[in-house]
Amino acid sequence: MAVPALFLVTGLSARIRRFASGRGRPWLVEVATYAVAFLAIEFLLTLPLRYYAGFVRLHAYGLSVQTFGRWLGDALKGLGVEMVGAVLFLWVPYLLMARSPRRWWLYTGLLALPFAGFSALIAPIVVDPLFNDFGPMKNGHLEARIDALAHRAGIDGGKIFEVDKSKDTRTVNAYVTGLFGTRRIVLWDTIIAKLDEDELLAVMGHEMGHYVLNHVAQGLVLSSIGTVFALYLIHRAANALIRRFGGRFGFDRLSDVASVPLLLLLAQVTIFLGSPVINGFSRHMEHEADRFSLEITRDNRAAATAFVKLQEDNLSVPYPDWWVQIWRSTHPSIGERIEFCNEYRPWETGGPMRYASLFGEP
Ligand SMILES: [Zn+2]
Repeated sequence: MAVPALFLVTGLSARIRRFASGRGRPWLVEVATYAVAFLAIEFLLTLPLRYYAGFVRLHAYGLSVQTFGRWLGDALKGLGVEMVGAVLFLWVPYLLMARSPRRWWLYTGLLALPFAGFSALIAPIVVDPLFNDFGPMKNGHLEARIDALAHRAGIDGGKIFEVDKSKDTRTVNAYVTGLFGTRRIVLWDTIIAKLDEDELLAVMGHEMGHYVLNHVAQGLVLSSIGTVFALYLIHRAANALIRRFGGRFGFDRLSDVASVPLLLLLAQVTIFLGSPVINGFSRHMEHEADRFSLEITRDNRAAATAFVKLQEDNLSVPYPDWWVQIWRSTHPSIGERIEFCNEYRPWETGGPMRYASLFGEP
């Protein structure tokens, strides 16, 4: 929040826009030039904090094995992706603001859903491979077991990929993503090295749960409702702030592209205030994915020991304080998840299963 605020109160943003507009440059070129210049300066301003939080601290705790050169290369590549995205799309909300100063927030919010859906589909296929190699799985036996589990979960025709993440990080991940032809199951090589086969299947059961239960689509719908609401609040607050401080900011209407840091600042505030709701929804979906995994694998012990290993390696707090959970946690605490793995076995006690109708028998 401090960085966009700095762009505003120093008038830096207005100066970048004057530079970008030049002498009678086309408006589209002005917006694109502003976006590139803003992102470059913002990158430099935040670089020390990024370096400390994303490199120094991780190395201090033995969580990262990345070299400085590779870290910097990834940071620059990320900046490049942001610049391309901003040049391609930033003009859209600004055109809407210019054409419809009172309703732009609604139109932008409505456009955000197909856009977010498209990105969720495209990013794993176009963006992620820029950073790491996606190869075939090396362990054929494991691949066959994952394939069989995916088949039972009704996820057919997905390719299984192994990502060489071990040169960057010691943390682990696995996910199922895409639709139709782009459907894919991805495992980082770090998680394959850390967990045994049964534990990996428990993790894959969780990821397949997200996929089968349409968590990505549900998240997209809820986030676009949230986006429209947030954009309305941002619209009201931004115009009020421009009326009050426009002289200092150096611009007098929201459709001036110099308002980018004002929108970013207000977006940060809105996300901060909304995070208890967003996180609560996310924790609920994660819990249901855990339930799906237990019901399809019925391997409570493997699921629980997988969480123990992940906790030890990611150095997560087993039972964080309630306010940390509400404000920061997108997943139930690892302690609660292990307890659920130990207790939840309705197939033995004759209790009701929630998702058994969604998958075939082993
Ligand atoms: Zn999950």
